[in-house]
Amino acid sequence: MTRTKILDVKAYLLPKEANPLSFQWRAGLPGSDPVQERAVIRVVTDEGIDGFAEAQRGVIALDIVHRRLKSALVGENPLWKEKLWKKIWEIDRIEELPLYLLGTIDTALWDITSKVAGLPLYQLLGGYRSTVPAYASTVTFATIDEYLTVADQCLATGFTAIKLHAWGDVRRDAALAKALRRHVGDEIDLMYDGSAAYDFHDAVRLGHTLEEEKFRWYEEPMREFSISSYERLRSRLGIPLLVAETSEGCHYNTADFIAFHAGDIVRTSTGLKGGVTGAMRIAHLADAFQLRAEVHGGGIANLHVACAIPNTTYYESLVMSNPVIREPLVNDQGLASVPETPGVGYAFDVEDLQLRATAQI
Ligand SMILES: [Mg+2]
Repeated sequence: MTRTKILDVKAYLLPKEANPLSFQWRAGLPGSDPVQERAVIRVVTDEGIDGFAEAQRGVIALDIVHRRLKSALVGENPLWKEKLWKKIWEIDRIEELPLYLLGTIDTALWDITSKVAGLPLYQLLGGYRSTVPAYASTVTFATIDEYLTVADQCLATGFTAIKLHAWGDVRRDAALAKALRRHVGDEIDLMYDGSAAYDFHDAVRLGHTLEEEKFRWYEEPMREFSISSYERLRSRLGIPLLVAETSEGCHYNTADFIAFHAGDIVRTSTGLKGGVTGAMRIAHLADAFQLRAEVHGGGIANLHVACAIPNTTYYESLVMSNPVIREPLVNDQGLASVPETPGVGYAFDVEDLQLRATAQI
């Protein structure tokens, strides 16, 4: 048994930077925060191996690490991830941790474990492939013409599949879906992500158009609070519904989406589903029902999960600008390649973090 211990849990608040994401889907309402302030979490062990993870909304991350997580984790064996996963869920019962923070420590613990094992994370988790097709996941652009220009660039740069984040207006989004299908032809996989813009009535209306245009999936048209609404929506549509991206409760919640026939595909991710441990639980749960668990969100931790499991189709690669800039993880064949170094593959340098951090605990 490896008796390594956690000596400390550090959090470094990185300088503010302009947020390149621009999701504006409901007229008159703000989308993403125009400024992002991320944090890097570092779990320090007595054997000199550090585990890293990234957290968005860094001020909140620093607060929670400082008040709750540090004292809960110091002295524990970082390889005991199931024990610590349950411990963090106990803390969640009191704190109601933000979804995006619930799995941060777990990801850092998997970073440590795979470094101890000397394996890249995806191989430790099972190992299914070392590359996976990526789809271009657009942010919100101004006009149909601009979307078509962006689509041309995505295809020219190697992507073979495109997902729209659009305006959240049924008529405009339906017109965009039709125009894009005409523009790229039938061979390109197209998907649509509503980011919860609609109520039931409008979700049905747009769903019919996406079905006609042979979109591969229809993602999160409504908020995911009401499973029965998704069950009714699925009964009205033929297009596969992709569900449970932002719903709380990890696999406990996903199980009910599946049990009540409220979706055709489920979401899994390290970011919103309890880290690597939660993401893998959902992937295996879905597999038991012959369902795909499509990995949500970019970043290398999610890429490791996508390469560890057979039941995801794609890696989600955000296309955040026009002109299109392809992220370095994706090659000119539209394939995302997972890092082969032991661990998750974060390239954080502790001295650099200490120097750059605007606050640290
Ligand atoms: Mg989504």
